[in-house]
Amino acid sequence: MTGALRPPSLRWAEIVAVGSELLVPPRLDTNSLFITERLNEYGIEVRAKAIVGDRREDLEAVVRAALARTELVVVCGGLGPTDDDLTRDAVSAVTGRTLREQSGILDGIRQRFAARGARMPEINRRQAMVPEGADVIPNGLGTAPGLWLEHEGRVLLLLPGPPAELKPMVERVVAERLAPRAGGGRLHRRVLRICGRTESEVDERAAPVYSRWVIGPLPVSTTVLTSPAQVELHLSVRAASAAEAHARLEAAAADMACLFGADLFSMDGRVLEEVVGQLLRDRGWHIGVAESCTGGLISGRLTEVPGSSDYVGFNAVCYSNQAKASVLGVPPALLAGHGAVSEPVALAMADGIRQRAAAEIGIGVTGIAGPAGGSDDKPLGTVVIGVTTADVRVVRTYRFPAGRARVRQFAAQIALDLARRVLLGVEAGRAFVFMPGTGVRR
Ligand code: AMP
Ligand code: MG
Repeated sequence: MTGALRPPSLRWAEIVAVGSELLVPPRLDTNSLFITERLNEYGIEVRAKAIVGDRREDLEAVVRAALARTELVVVCGGLGPTDDDLTRDAVSAVTGRTLREQSGILDGIRQRFAARGARMPEINRRQAMVPEGADVIPNGLGTAPGLWLEHEGRVLLLLPGPPAELKPMVERVVAERLAPRAGGGRLHRRVLRICGRTESEVDERAAPVYSRWVIGPLPVSTTVLTSPAQVELHLSVRAASAAEAHARLEAAAADMACLFGADLFSMDGRVLEEVVGQLLRDRGWHIGVAESCTGGLISGRLTEVPGSSDYVGFNAVCYSNQAKASVLGVPPALLAGHGAVSEPVALAMADGIRQRAAAEIGIGVTGIAGPAGGSDDKPLGTVVIGVTTADVRVVRTYRFPAGRARVRQFAAQIALDLARRVLLGVEAGRAFVFMPGTGVRR
């Protein structure tokens, strides 16, 4: 920035992810996706990205080419202390700016080591080297600081590779340095989540509505995304005023709520296990989950929510018939007579865990995830889910799309959704139901 001149606005960016490990499986470059999302929010488009191994001449060539095209170049990785961390050197060579040690950074790194009772290894000195004219972006979670360098009308932003360190730094840089120069208004988002309908059903019903939203001064664009037994509608509006954007998104979300009723379970970005958790908390209820084919997935999801100990006490994974009988008290005669994957057994599992967990609501899930174990009357992907309370017993037999992982994910999602519907006192969703079940509502 020189004198009173406004710095050039930023509309385009390129991202360079540095690290030989990112060129081979299984390490993935996730940083660039995170950075892209944040830049897009402020109307900065990513026009290209590259992954470069730890070779100095390659890195120099890629950074030089990016700087020749694009006003903002974000380089992530290669800021560590070891010999293969070459980002600082490459940037110094490309820009012709000498690296100088900054004593402030060095002191900070020394203190980080001292706080753990260790002495700073000499190699970490490299992390205090800064190209002339660069600003330092503090890293609260690691030794490598970020660097912001304005060079010949371009901006070079250097960030450390570890995602946990990079993310908070990106948030800060975007808010403090990029947002004021982005100029395109901010992208505001709202995520709606639906369970109990397929993607095509959702799209068929919603398309006429969202085609109306794209008209007008603040157009709302809609993206439909699916995951097992869930359809997400991502609504977004670009606007300078947050209040206007929120009002527009609120109105759009309300339109959708009319279309999808109880199938729309989240209008504020919350995931299903958070919604179920909130319903339990509102009632002061506990839930007990007895899982067979889902192997703890439901329990895992429920307890991923902070504070879930308010409503989760005892869940069980009972794979074998013996475990279903001894841990949950499922009568052996029921298992022998109907088979483990049956509606009476799913209900007995739900009752069993509910009583043993002293919970007000119980879930029982039993099914055939495959790839082996299917039969003519119970093919692969057959899953029975029962949900019981003192007053209500609901059970459904589903047929989920093949693939062990998918069957398990579908089953976990539908089971949580069935519990949600019982808590709300609304009908079970229709999608994927193979048999409507013998359950009754009293
Ligand atoms: P570095 O800053 O190059 O020392 O990277 C440190 C660690 O961060 C590496 O071991 C990577 O596993 C991880 N990392 C680096 N770049 C990326 C990236 N683009 N996406 C995800 N993880 C990364
Ligand atoms: Mg590296």
